[in-house]
Amino acid sequence: MAEPKENPLMEKIVSLCKRRGFVYQSSEIYGGINGFWDYGPLGAELKRNVKELWWNTMTRQREDVVGLEATIIMSPEIWKASGHVSTFSDPMCDCLLTKKRFRADQVEPQSGVAYHYATATDQTSLQKLAELAGASKAAEAFISGKEIEILSALFNSVDNDHHPLLKQTFAEVGMDIENSAHALFNGLRGHLKSQGQKTIPFAVLLQPGKPPESARKIAKEFYAGRGIKDPVLLGEQTEKVENSQRFNPENGALLTDPRPFNLMFKTYVGPVESEDNVAYLRPETAQAIFAQFKNVLETSRQKVPFGIGQIGKAFRNEVTPRNYTFRSREFEQMELEFFIKPDEVIEAIHGNVVTVPETGHPGEPQPNWGWQAWHQYWVEERVRFYEGIGLSRETLGFHRQTAEELAHYARACVDILFKFPFSKRDEKGELKGEELEGIAARSDFDLSQHQRFSGKPMGVFDEELRAAWGKLSEEKKKELSDRYFANRKKYLVKMGVAEEQATKEATNDTNGLAKGQYIPHVIEPSAGVDRLILSLICNAYTEVSKTDEKGKTEINVVMKFHPRVAPIKVGVMPLLKNKPELVKKALEVRDILRPWMNVFYDDGGSIGRRYARQDEAGTPFCVTIDFDTLGEKPELLDTVTLRYRDDGKQERLKISELRDWLLSKIR
Ligand code: ATP
Repeated sequence: MAEPKENPLMEKIVSLCKRRGFVYQSSEIYGGINGFWDYGPLGAELKRNVKELWWNTMTRQREDVVGLEATIIMSPEIWKASGHVSTFSDPMCDCLLTKKRFRADQVEPQSGVAYHYATATDQTSLQKLAELAGASKAAEAFISGKEIEILSALFNSVDNDHHPLLKQTFAEVGMDIENSAHALFNGLRGHLKSQGQKTIPFAVLLQPGKPPESARKIAKEFYAGRGIKDPVLLGEQTEKVENSQRFNPENGALLTDPRPFNLMFKTYVGPVESEDNVAYLRPETAQAIFAQFKNVLETSRQKVPFGIGQIGKAFRNEVTPRNYTFRSREFEQMELEFFIKPDEVIEAIHGNVVTVPETGHPGEPQPNWGWQAWHQYWVEERVRFYEGIGLSRETLGFHRQTAEELAHYARACVDILFKFPFSKRDEKGELKGEELEGIAARSDFDLSQHQRFSGKPMGVFDEELRAAWGKLSEEKKKELSDRYFANRKKYLVKMGVAEEQATKEATNDTNGLAKGQYIPHVIEPSAGVDRLILSLICNAYTEVSKTDEKGKTEINVVMKFHPRVAPIKVGVMPLLKNKPELVKKALEVRDILRPWMNVFYDDGGSIGRRYARQDEAGTPFCVTIDFDTLGEKPELLDTVTLRYRDDGKQERLKISELRDWLLSKIR
């Protein structure tokens, strides 16, 4: 993915965001802090609208979802149970030259010629070597001459490459090439060793056609950075390289080997900075939902299937924050954990498990839906949400994770992507898109983990199951029990529980079915607020060119936000600032609308300029109070001009109808 500066459209979007107060760099006056972003006045409104719409759609407007607001810092045990302490890591590598950090799997693959260096030394060491090696004349000849590069090139390849110049020089000073060369290089190695100097291998990748000098320049910079003054490169060898992720795409320097890097921010709770007091800033909001599952179940009078939603901050010490706000270190998530019955329980109660096609919305939830139907339902519900705030299906992409990509406990995961200007393109040149949200069918993994780590039961009691189980044939009971047992045991063994113990625990779990007990499974739609904001901004950004009467063309930006998310819903303007009657009426209109929506009152500049300012802020409607409003044409008394942002069309509307008209558009 290209950085904004390499992508002209992104560059314009980033600059507009700053200029209009959507997004600022965090701590900008101190030079900024990488991976952290602030939202300005317009951005803050946009974000608030998005979160409120998610909350309303996902919780308030549903009977079967309730909300939660948990703390950011939780017991560190939670992150052990979730696997974040042991596995929440990305392989990362650093540029050996600049120390810049990369996620190993995200380094842009490079091809070209790699220049490898065995090590480097300084001029003085090389002189000393000459004496030690007993080849002083030859060595000096090289050291003082331009052949130094040849000498270094032969450091590692003395046996197979007798360069003519080397041969000639040795001959001139009357020395036998084979022996002298060996003496020279063995001497050098020995000398470096005796000085306690380790050889430091390094390499630089050059794009095809670039002169070797550029590689040598970078390599010298690298060795100079390691304290070798005026370094002489030794042992240069070249190698053709295809699609390698081992080199920094920006300067060609070798990267360190990938190392795991835990993405959780660590802190200490209380005044003592000891290992016992370590805590983490949550890397996702989901785990709090699992940890509070039983409390919510008991206090909300919900029954499975039901969900718990949460919006909140999450923190990840991303190796390479990039693409503007797309990959940040502090961000917000909107997550739903929707708890469902395991398929065996559905089958016990309803006699069958309904599955649905993998395309399209499957309709209203049914009691006999298994995980597959619920998963498809949530994918489509989430797409509807995006469509409802202006992201059409064409702007989205979908990625169904393959069996290799899926976590071991997951049954399925569909990522909803948005086609950002910086997204990669497929073979046909179409933008592929980047993840906005993942919808995962996570089995009963999360609650099971918390049950094991906390020692508290996470299962539920279901009277319907208990009653149904008693009526099943022995054969059916066995079939369902076997399946349930196999899944439970597979999970336990995978988590390192010894075979015998796993069999015992899985048997216990399976026996619970007859008593109406089971651990719920979960479908998790997990979305990032900031990525959604960025996609709404990219989607809204439109350039409109206007040519005036004199033939001068001007490009104006119109941010075509859906009215539901637009930061300002309506601009209210008196036609003229210096007519107190107009101003008074305009302020009255503003005050009528203000309790219901974000209104921007503007009386500065020509009406055209004021409209243009609102277009850039993405305000979908403007109302203008003019002389007709005051009754110049009696039939238009108390009406206003309403202007649409997207096509500039205007119409008259009664002030008394304005509020409800606007509300019908923005809700
Ligand atoms: P990625 O593969 O891009 O790192 P992920 O698969 O790790 O993302 P999840 O753990 O599934 O992401 O998190 C759920 C959602 O949270 C993502 O779909 C994304 O919208 C958001 N998110 C995750 N990491 C970041 C981040 N560093 N900055 C902004 N949003 C993020």
